[in-house]
Amino acid sequence: MQREAIYQRLKAKYGFDEFRPGQYEVISDLLAGEDVLAVLPTGTGKSLIYQLVGSLLPGLVVVISPLISLMQDQVARLNYQGEKQVAALTSQLDFGTRKSVLRQLPQLKFLFISPEMLKQPRVLAALQQTTISLLVIDEAHCISTWGPDFRPDYLSLGTLKQAIGNPLTLMLTATATAKVRQDIVTQLQVPAAKQVVYSVNRPNIYLAVEQVASEADKRERLQQLVLAVKRPSIVYFSSKRQTDLIAEWLRSTTHLRVAAYHAGLTAENRFKIQQQFMAGELDVICATSAFGMGIDKADIRQVIHYHLPTNLADYVQEIGRAGRDGQPALAVLLYAPGDEQLVRNLNNLTAASPAEIQLDQQRFQQSQVAETDLSLVLQYYWTHGYSVEQVTTQFESRQRAKEAELAQLLTYVQAKTCRRAVLMAYFNEPAPDHTPRCCQLSGEPLPLAQLGLTASKAQSQAATIPWQQILAQLFLQNS
Ligand SMILES: [Zn+2]
Repeated sequence: MQREAIYQRLKAKYGFDEFRPGQYEVISDLLAGEDVLAVLPTGTGKSLIYQLVGSLLPGLVVVISPLISLMQDQVARLNYQGEKQVAALTSQLDFGTRKSVLRQLPQLKFLFISPEMLKQPRVLAALQQTTISLLVIDEAHCISTWGPDFRPDYLSLGTLKQAIGNPLTLMLTATATAKVRQDIVTQLQVPAAKQVVYSVNRPNIYLAVEQVASEADKRERLQQLVLAVKRPSIVYFSSKRQTDLIAEWLRSTTHLRVAAYHAGLTAENRFKIQQQFMAGELDVICATSAFGMGIDKADIRQVIHYHLPTNLADYVQEIGRAGRDGQPALAVLLYAPGDEQLVRNLNNLTAASPAEIQLDQQRFQQSQVAETDLSLVLQYYWTHGYSVEQVTTQFESRQRAKEAELAQLLTYVQAKTCRRAVLMAYFNEPAPDHTPRCCQLSGEPLPLAQLGLTASKAQSQAATIPWQQILAQLFLQNS
């Protein structure tokens, strides 16, 4: 397709004159019929790529997405932009609704679906009857990092792709090391896919890690940071409960507009909070990692991690939501001794001993399938003819990989030299020279003034709201 035609569509559909880095390259490769693995930093507008290609090609765009909340958000956003021929096929829909979505397939332009739903025979059959213009694997790194012990259906995507007629394929991710990229193209059986890879380095984001002695100190430091630094801020937590509790605490102890955001909220509430955030009506979002996939707000000034992220790739993706306007922004990781245990606990959730694996196989053979998370994962292997030894090996190597990821994360946390150099080394990229605007060497105070990130005086005072008023506010919020 002609370059002008692509630019005309960009102008007509989105009102933009220019693409962001990487967008045009990926779009023109796809329109030339090439499969593409695109590693583009968060904030590049990855969904614009498949929306624009979908609008130029006849047929359905199928988007494989890992999270129901993410799918619902994307459907809501497309609807908001005026695109009505869009649906999400999720396990939350009842049988009747699923059937009606499948009946409407020929009229749809975009279908969001999880790998688990895609493998359902009814769904496969319906898709085989439909013209598919493009298959999109969103958050494609999940193939490598989530597959073996958490979402094994990700391992079948290559086979499922063949089953629906091997359509043109776009694999999208914000962060992928060379190893992860190799995993993705191998699993999807597209070794010759064009790879469009942009650097993960975001030089305008200042990197800091602050050690605190205890949970109470951490909370206090968090409060100082959200008050002292220009708004808005995102604060990441690893648990929904902590997200809610700390959001409530920040709301009642500062005069900031704070909201909690996680997968436990209804789709409607999540969308409402996103809209408020986009409209500049919130100062702080306390969130789990579900928030931000797909959020494109240019002026986020600070991303704080209250808990450790799972690994450096996730970390880079999460802090990448700051400073998309190119202006200075701040990434602060708050670390208290022993925080890594929380990551280990999360990792252990998907661990299994050889004895557990053996027992599950025996039960499976006797048709006694347990409804535990582990058993549901293992079912995949038993129905695909794996042996107990093969599965044990898979699980052990996955746990070792997670332990190695944690060790790399701690190398970043404990770095005494340039932190950006540690991040770049993880992605096998050369490190730029350290400057005063690059990262915090241990013991240095945050250079907020030099970075132009100091909140105005009026904004940086903690609230002195009388307790009666706080109570009244709480009462109103709960009524
Ligand atoms: Zn540095």
